[in-house]
Amino acid sequence: MSNTVQRAAHSLPANLPAAFRPLLPGVPTQPTAGDRHSVPVILAKAPRTWTFTDRESGEQKTFTCMQGCVDRHDDIRSGLAVAEDVWCRRHTNDVTLPINDSGQPEELSVLRATMNVDPFDRRMAQRLPHIDLEIMDDAWLEGLDPDGFATVINTLQGRLDEMRAMHAELVVVRAAYMKQVQA
Ligand SMILES: [Zn+2]
Repeated sequence: MSNTVQRAAHSLPANLPAAFRPLLPGVPTQPTAGDRHSVPVILAKAPRTWTFTDRESGEQKTFTCMQGCVDRHDDIRSGLAVAEDVWCRRHTNDVTLPINDSGQPEELSVLRATMNVDPFDRRMAQRLPHIDLEIMDDAWLEGLDPDGFATVINTLQGRLDEMRAMHAELVVVRAAYMKQVQA
């Protein structure tokens, strides 16, 4: 049984585009017209290509990581991979708020977005880069394509606009209330 793991070479060409060279102190980081099409450094690495034997089917499988994938794919490295569980991902940093979900406030993650590819999923849509959005601790909006993700963002933006308006009202109403109770 072959447990070969191949790793794409990460060597970079000698004549690196300006965007990929180490930044020097005082050098502006704004892109110039010349490197307008440069991509973040995280995308500059060649995506890793893996070959492994699926533990369920015994078949040899090959896939190339999604750009920017941060998964170490330890199950592949250790020869334990089941193809359907292979998962490429990158994610936003956690943002937490003290939410009362069980009787007392605790820091819970909100609006954590992950970008994923499930290269061997039975649902074809999962094999393309998509977003899973954890609204709050273990409550997910799953399988969002760009249009779906935009719809969610617009919905949340509308909610944020309402909250901004309510914030302005709160300031006014609160000041009026303080005058009432002090009168
Ligand atoms: Zn990956």
